[in-house]
Amino acid sequence: MTARPCPECGGLVASTINQCPHCGYQMGAAYDSARVVNGHNPYNSLVRLIAAIILFWPLGLISLYYHVKSDDRWSAGDVKGAELYGGNSRRFANIAIYLVLTLLGMWILLLMLFIAI
Ligand SMILES: [Zn+2]
Repeated sequence: MTARPCPECGGLVASTINQCPHCGYQMGAAYDSARVVNGHNPYNSLVRLIAAIILFWPLGLISLYYHVKSDDRWSAGDVKGAELYGGNSRRFANIAIYLVLTLLGMWILLLMLFIAI
């Protein structure tokens, strides 16, 4: 099953139905897969990717790899593939962000401990 983004709300609509389940927009016959190519890939987060690369680049690069893969799949009209790779991209970016935040938190905690002593 393939899906395309709704021009009204951006939600994904299965190719088998003509009315958007999110906002009720009537998709119509003229609406075709070309829209998928031009539409924005909702499974990728550029802000998260950039944050991951800045905070911890080794994991950020892995996230970037999946980000590019996801955009490739999206451009090819493969929504499922875009979702899969986009999910991986988000996962690695999240690990990078949480890892750095945790280390930073521990470091601040240690610093406060030393100041207290
Ligand atoms: Zn909609």
